[in-house]
Amino acid sequence: FAQPSLKRVDSVCPFCGVGCQLRYHVDENDRIAHVEGIAGPANEGRLCVKGRFGFDYAHSPERLTRPLIRRADAPKDPTAIERRQTAQEVRELFREASWDEALDAAAAGFRAALGATAARGRASPVAGFGSAKGTNEEAYLFQKLVRTAFGTHNVDHCTRLCHASSVAALMEGLGSGVVSNPLRDVEHAELVLLIGANPAQNHPVGATWIKNAIRRGTRLVLADPRRTELARHAWRYLGFSPGSDVALLNAMLHVIVAEGLTDPAYIAAHTRDFDAIQAHVAAFTPEAMAPVCGIAPEAIREVARAFASAKSAMILWGMGVSQHAHGTENARALIALSLITGQIGRPGTGLHPLRGQNNVQGASDAGLIPMVLPDYARVNDASARERAEALWRLAPGTLGAEPGLTVVEIIEAAYRGDISAMLVQGENPAMSDPDAAHARAALAGLKHLVVQDIFLTETAALADVVLPATAWPEKTGSVTNTDRCVQLGRKAVASPGEARADAWITEQLARRLGLGWGYGIAPDGSGTGDGAQGIGAVYEEMRALMPSIAGLSWPRLWRDGAVTYPVSDEQDPGQPVVFTEGFPMPEGRARLVPAALVPPAERPDGEYPLVLITGRQLEHWHTGSMTRRSAVLDAIEPSPVVSLNPATAERLGLRAGALARVRSRRGAIALPVRVDEAMPPDTAFIPFAYAEAAANLLTNPVLDPLGKIAELKYCAVDVRPE
Ligand code: SF4
Repeated sequence: FAQPSLKRVDSVCPFCGVGCQLRYHVDENDRIAHVEGIAGPANEGRLCVKGRFGFDYAHSPERLTRPLIRRADAPKDPTAIERRQTAQEVRELFREASWDEALDAAAAGFRAALGATAARGRASPVAGFGSAKGTNEEAYLFQKLVRTAFGTHNVDHCTRLCHASSVAALMEGLGSGVVSNPLRDVEHAELVLLIGANPAQNHPVGATWIKNAIRRGTRLVLADPRRTELARHAWRYLGFSPGSDVALLNAMLHVIVAEGLTDPAYIAAHTRDFDAIQAHVAAFTPEAMAPVCGIAPEAIREVARAFASAKSAMILWGMGVSQHAHGTENARALIALSLITGQIGRPGTGLHPLRGQNNVQGASDAGLIPMVLPDYARVNDASARERAEALWRLAPGTLGAEPGLTVVEIIEAAYRGDISAMLVQGENPAMSDPDAAHARAALAGLKHLVVQDIFLTETAALADVVLPATAWPEKTGSVTNTDRCVQLGRKAVASPGEARADAWITEQLARRLGLGWGYGIAPDGSGTGDGAQGIGAVYEEMRALMPSIAGLSWPRLWRDGAVTYPVSDEQDPGQPVVFTEGFPMPEGRARLVPAALVPPAERPDGEYPLVLITGRQLEHWHTGSMTRRSAVLDAIEPSPVVSLNPATAERLGLRAGALARVRSRRGAIALPVRVDEAMPPDTAFIPFAYAEAAANLLTNPVLDPLGKIAELKYCAVDVRPE
């Protein structure tokens, strides 16, 4: 890596929510030659394999370089992806167009959809999926466009498939959906409960902080059906049965209440409804729950006692908790565990749902959610709507009070024909949504689909208009990591051909849809530090709606590069630990909500006898559009696999490398077997990054009723030799 570099640009990793800062080294051909970690607050120079080697996707020959319009005679075949349509076949569905022609066509399609009906609000025929891969400013502009030009709150993004249930429970219980303590606070924790998360694969630099803490004496309790890498470092590993989180957690709550291990002073001062929890968990004895969760009563007792009696105990969780039809119940139980033991509001304590995508926190903060405006101001709050209407120069009453549809609901509405036009910025629902065949049919059935992306993704292949966007190293903007730390990403290289920044595209669309936007966003994604115009002006307008970042001006962010909110004024250094004095709830008290024991929606049976868990793997990110076009990452993990326990594989007549057919009630895929000791019996794991064996063809679209997140971590499948 000692190649000479002409230019060095400091930025942020575009992958996971840890938010590592990195330095791009750019060669004389304006290409990224290599990447190194720098001393950001989340990483102190560390990078994982994705951050270090996942950059050359930006220089891929497959990048979109000109706007595309679908040929009039090109079919929209939702099954083409499964039939392995080649890249060339997809490309031939489109013709190149000028930016003016493509933007005019995009805007005309939305005008036609809106003009065909008087329906607005939730019943609007138009919806938008923004992206947690973009910047805060892009997310803010996108939701503003949908809300003002389309007259609907039908706007959402991948948070719906990530931590929507966690946020629903946190908002309900604590009045805020953010993490209480940064990830690196594990250094101050005497005990860490890590449940339903695999940081060694999905938040790798975060995992190094956990291992460091363990070396200094922190006890790790790892609770996960899969015996993942950190189990080697754990004080106790609880391999509970998939989908039985509430049984395990309520049994821990039972022990803590029954043995008088609660923190009565904390409960009295900072919570309400303890009586409800006390009564609810009385029946959840470890003996009663052991057959449900598969953990011995004594192990439950030991861990519950250790958690409650630790001087400081912190809870980290991931999508193993959230991606269930009972995801909100799971998070309610974790919140109760933290509150009744007083393990929150101090360093080394608290609740930290590990955010997935690098900017899923920021995109949510910026309002890319159907039920809230920026900074989680509810759309049914009249004063919040009035503030936004005044800032956006809308007539009073323009914004509706009814929350919009969520991701899976939008896809369902599209399938029914109730939504006829969609704008998708940087998301790939044809791969990421549950029951992907159904999602693809819904997308193909749209009268008008406009996709902004850097590649001709599986979703873009079904579009009417494709607008080529800039990749992460090609633009400037802010992102917010899992710790609530707002960081600045800086443009390092030029974008190829006629690719344009997403924020510029949004502004151009807005103008064509009759909105008089005048931010003056640079088409090449560049930004300056004054905040007077361009992307900085977008940030300053967003800040005016967001008390959480009131003290973080664009010039300050430009200067400091990373500040953790809440930050009230220019002198405020930011607050890594929150809830120190109570909660943003009536009387400052958190609400304890009992967690109901709800089984997974689809249980194994004679026809589908195994449980399928889906997720990510170290080398590939989400739907693989970037990492599978990064040479090193693709070389390490070039193809899909289904992981099985050795005994299960043997019983099914499958050896390592053999081709298996995995079938659910919704679809079937074929892929090689990986034998993995970490897997529990009768359970399969498939990463969702591979179009040729898309895990989401199998998954169950059933939703958590509150968080509206799909049960991506549990469905019944049959696995047999292909
Ligand atoms: Fe990027 Fe996450 Fe890896 Fe850090 S840990 S380098 S943010 S993928």
